[in-house]
Amino acid sequence: MDCIFCKIINKEIPSKIVYEDERVLAILDISQATYGHTLVMPKTHAKNIYEIKEDDYLYLMKIVKMLAIKIKNNLNAKGINIINNNDIGAGQSVMHYHVHIVPRYDNDDFKIKNIDHSKDYNLDEVLNKINNKKES
Ligand code: 5GP
Ligand code: ZN
Repeated sequence: MDCIFCKIINKEIPSKIVYEDERVLAILDISQATYGHTLVMPKTHAKNIYEIKEDDYLYLMKIVKMLAIKIKNNLNAKGINIINNNDIGAGQSVMHYHVHIVPRYDNDDFKIKNIDHSKDYNLDEVLNKINNKKES
């Protein structure tokens, strides 16, 4: 399979390994959006949140939690963002499931833009749609 992260997992492509066990690999992201930006991925290929096996997902998130604490403490970060993009429409560029651990610092130039659109939407309609209910 032509998957860059599978190649990294199989050591066909070098990476800076932050953590490894039989099920999970964590590496430094090549882009280093912030100091210590890390990617955590399952060794079994799955494209995204929809496809990853629940058991693999739960195990991976346990490792994400452990690494988030380690990275925050050892890099003296002010905070941590945990990010996971699914589908091109959400910014996913590598189609092998992965979680970004992004340590945050003062003036780190990392941006997550969140604009309040609550006045634009009917929240009951949103709830009904999510839960597949007919509108009353
Ligand atoms: P996505 O956009 O899919 O959520 O994130 C993919 C991430 O993988 C990007 O942040 C990008 O910098 C990183 N990346 C892409 N190719 C490589 C690579 O060959 N090595 C490493 N370490 N990171 C990579
Ligand atoms: Zn893969």
